[in-house]
Amino acid sequence: MASIEEFVAALPKAELHLHLEGTVEPTTLWKLAERHQTPLFHAGRPALENLYRTEDFTGFLEAFKTVCEHLRAPEDYERITYNALRRLAEQNVRYAEIIVSAGVILWKQQDLRSCFEGIEAGYQRARDESGIRAQWIFDAVRQFGTTAAQAVAQAAASLRDRGVVGFSIGGDERQAPPELFRDAFAYARSAGLRLTAHAGEAAGPDSVWSALRVLGVERIGHGLTAAADPRLVDHLVEKQVPLDVCVTSNVKTGCLSDVSCHPLRNYFDKGLLVTLNSDDPALFGADLNQEYLLAYRLFGFHPEELTRLARNSFLAAFLPPEDKAFFLALFPDATRSRVTG
Ligand SMILES: [Zn+2]
Repeated sequence: MASIEEFVAALPKAELHLHLEGTVEPTTLWKLAERHQTPLFHAGRPALENLYRTEDFTGFLEAFKTVCEHLRAPEDYERITYNALRRLAEQNVRYAEIIVSAGVILWKQQDLRSCFEGIEAGYQRARDESGIRAQWIFDAVRQFGTTAAQAVAQAAASLRDRGVVGFSIGGDERQAPPELFRDAFAYARSAGLRLTAHAGEAAGPDSVWSALRVLGVERIGHGLTAAADPRLVDHLVEKQVPLDVCVTSNVKTGCLSDVSCHPLRNYFDKGLLVTLNSDDPALFGADLNQEYLLAYRLFGFHPEELTRLARNSFLAAFLPPEDKAFFLALFPDATRSRVTG
C-alpha cells in the first residue's frame, strides 16, 4: 500500500509544457549572477529571492526576463538543461518536450546554434545518468513580430535532425493574435515540424479557434478559456486535440482568480485529451508531481484517473507511434500498487 505521494512519484510521466528558462531555481540564478557579475548579483540575494515571489503576470514576466538575461554562454544553457532534466528524472518523468525561448535568444543576438549545443550537452549528461529522453520546441515571442517568428521557425527547421521537434508561439496573446503568424506556421509545417501554440491563456476562446483553424496547431498550450465556448469544447473533444493544462501557472500569472474555478475536472469529464504540466516550475513553486497531487486534492482525481492523465501525457506527445507504445508499456507494473489515504 502506497501513499498518494508515493503513487504519484512512481507514475511514469511525460512533461509536455515546460519552459527551459522557467526551470532555473534561485540557487542556479545566483551562481549565474555571480559568474557574470550582473546587477542582480550586486543588488544581493534578497533582491533575487524577491523575484521568485511573484503573484501576477507582470511579476512573472520580470522574473522570466531576468533569468533570460543571465543565460549568456552555451555553458549556462548546459547547466540549466542538465538541472532541469535531473529534476524531471527524480519525479519519474521519462520523457519531456522542453520549450526553448529561441525568440529571446535571437532577440539577445546570441548564436542560437552554440546555445543549442550547450542544451544538447546538458541533455546528454542527464540522459547518460537517468535514461530520460527529451525533444525541444522552439518558441517565438508574439510581441517580437512576424519576421522574428519566421526566424525562429527557420532555426527550428535547421535543427530538426537534432531533436527540435516543434514550433510554437508564446507571449502576450492580446497584443498579437494568431492570424499574424499564419506564414511562420505554414513554413514550419512544410519543414516537417509539429505545431503548438499558447492559446486561450490570457485571451478568450477565439484565440484557440484561430490557433486551430488559421495556424493548424496540433496541440493547445493552456486552453483555459475554451471552457467559455461549449462549441469549442465539443470540437476539442471530437478531434481529441490535446490541451497542455498548467493549473498552478494559471493562478500564479493571475489568469485565474481562484484555483477552484479551473476547468480541469470539467474538461476531463467531458472527454478532452488533457495533460498536466508545470510550465515554469521554479518560478511558480510547483513541480509536475505537485500538479498531480493538486488534481487529486482539489479536483478529486482518484488514482485511476491520475493514471489516465499520465497516459495522456504520452499519447499527446510529439513522438512516433512506436515510442508512444514503448512508454505506454511502462504502466501496468508501475501502477499496480494500491493507494492509501
Ligand atoms: Zn507556457
